[in-house]
Amino acid sequence: GRKQGSVGFIGLGTMGREMARNLLEAGFAVRAFDVVPTAIEALVALGAEAASGPADAARDADIAITMLPDTPQVEEVVRGAGGLLADPPRGRLVVDMSTISPVAVQRMAAELKGAGIDLLDAPVSGGPVGAKNAALSIMAGGDADAFARARPFFAAMGTTINHVGGPGAGQAVKLCNQLICGINIQAVCEALALGRAFGVDLDQLRQVLLGGSAASWMLDKLGPAMIAGDDAAGFRIDLMLKDLRLVQEQALALSVPLPATALVTSQYVEARAHGEGANGNQALFRVYDRMANQ
Ligand code: NAD
Repeated sequence: GRKQGSVGFIGLGTMGREMARNLLEAGFAVRAFDVVPTAIEALVALGAEAASGPADAARDADIAITMLPDTPQVEEVVRGAGGLLADPPRGRLVVDMSTISPVAVQRMAAELKGAGIDLLDAPVSGGPVGAKNAALSIMAGGDADAFARARPFFAAMGTTINHVGGPGAGQAVKLCNQLICGINIQAVCEALALGRAFGVDLDQLRQVLLGGSAASWMLDKLGPAMIAGDDAAGFRIDLMLKDLRLVQEQALALSVPLPATALVTSQYVEARAHGEGANGNQALFRVYDRMANQ
């Protein structure tokens, strides 16, 4: 049935457009903004209202949701001219679902709190397919009361919904998620590189591995594209590098050695240096092609 409540949704890219569509399908009113006008038009065709900027999207809404590339874009939308701090949503609740710096989250949360606005950091995992199917894992940091207010909206976008701590904790959990993803992709690449050199059938190799203890989300979801040489994003190499940079910043700030993360980060840097930043992160397999001269 039709849900009570309205959302200002800012950032209608690979993930955001699917999340906003699921909010519409659940019956919420959505007012949408993106710097790319065609992204707004696509959502208006599904029943959203078009907004002229972040504050215009969120002014009359119960909740403002942002799904933007990186920390500077979120800071711009929150603190910039025409942003959510200067002109807050009626519900005084801002939820950033991008993957950004936990330190920046803590700074913005304090600033917004001073203006009587709650901020939740609620990054997601599950990729574009999880976003499309409203099956994301959502990990939220911030006040319990704000989490309770956001929960009905989260339920329209995800199936695994957790409050994991105070401001920045959602990002901390997401960074743990991302280092596993990065290293796991590398592990799948290495297995495929060895299997290929032996001359075994790679589709069968993948099927066999999925039936045993080497099974993983990456092998399952990205394996076919790796084997087929399909580098289309998905989740871009550039975004994975952004996340691995955030992981490394926290590792150094907290004095936690993360040697495996350091190694795979260098391989993503190599991939970007070869012009693959806009490819999907399964294109890490191209690094293995080059190393083996395949
Ligand atoms: P994307 O680049 O496809 O989408 C970002 C959107 O934000 C674009 O449409 C862009 O035009 C818009 N934008 C940029 N600056 C803006 C501004 N100032 N105001 C309004 N709109 C602006 O990225 P994505 O893949 O949807 O990822 C979004 C976030 O979610 C990133 O932080 C990413 O790391 C994270 N994430 C992505 C995936 C994935 O599989 N793609 C999965 C989980 C988390």
